[in-house]
Amino acid sequence: MESALITVTDKGLYCPQADFHIDPWQPVARAVITHAHGDHARSGSEQYFAAGEGAGVLRHRLGHDLPLQSLAYGEVFRIGPAILSLHPAGHVLGSAQVRIEIDGRTWVVTGDYKRAPDPTCAPFTPVRCDVLISEATFALPCYSWPDTRDVVEEIYRWWQANREQGIASVLFAYAFGKAQRVLAELLAFTDEPVYAHGAVLPLVEEYRHAGISMLPTMPVEKTKKADYTGALIIAPPSAAGTTWMRRFGDASTGFCSGWMRIRGARRRRGYDRGFVLSDHADWPGLLQTIADSGASKVLLTHGYSDALVRYLREQGVDADALRTAYGEEE
Ligand SMILES: [Zn+2]
Ligand SMILES: [Zn+2]
Repeated sequence: MESALITVTDKGLYCPQADFHIDPWQPVARAVITHAHGDHARSGSEQYFAAGEGAGVLRHRLGHDLPLQSLAYGEVFRIGPAILSLHPAGHVLGSAQVRIEIDGRTWVVTGDYKRAPDPTCAPFTPVRCDVLISEATFALPCYSWPDTRDVVEEIYRWWQANREQGIASVLFAYAFGKAQRVLAELLAFTDEPVYAHGAVLPLVEEYRHAGISMLPTMPVEKTKKADYTGALIIAPPSAAGTTWMRRFGDASTGFCSGWMRIRGARRRRGYDRGFVLSDHADWPGLLQTIADSGASKVLLTHGYSDALVRYLREQGVDADALRTAYGEEE
């Protein structure tokens, strides 16, 4: 059996031939980072490698003095005997798949990714490889995403209906990635300013620095209660049910997430509306990506990896699950 180019250690995904980690969950010497979500990018490593588009967000999250080597998508770099390059993953600004080649064998680690278009990041690019390590967050057949434009139109109509009733709309979305995507997609319907929670605003600024167009945003903190009638407010899910919400009075709440695809998930979480909008690949997107890679072996991380392993094996694909510490984006 040929030796693996990537294994799992107690610190993360590891390349033993070249002594580097990918998205380690403990400090290491060399960390190649797929994207700046908290479960993939952690502080304390000696040297970081990441796509240049995501450098601003990564520094915002891990520190402005981060020892970071920024790379363009497709730019080849070497660590020991390994030839590496980063390729767009379409997940959030700067998200990358990692291509690793040693002695003519190629492995790809996708990190988180999606196949749906997103105006805030470079589109996913399929990369051919011998072994694919893919995420499996939404790896059940029930997860297939509706058209993004339709979902964003639903959000816009919900906001306008609430305004007609004289109440505010509080939309919960992950502070990094989802919030900016919604702000960018809403440009198709309006140019009206919206309020953003203090956890969302600095990341919106990083996106603006990277040249991403979004609705104008205003901070919540400096405004009075009466100002929120008919307004749209974007906030992280962690703000739901907190005293921070009181200032909006009788507001309608909505949540943007792939989890909203499942009947009952919205009610269980206590939101008035659920909007099916995910930054991860849906079931068809996962299968398409595995097919596009041409890989003869597929390894799956986080989410419903066991379900996808079973399905792939039934199709005659050599598949296995990898136990990692990924999963909670915030
Ligand atoms: Zn992520
Ligand atoms: Zn993840």
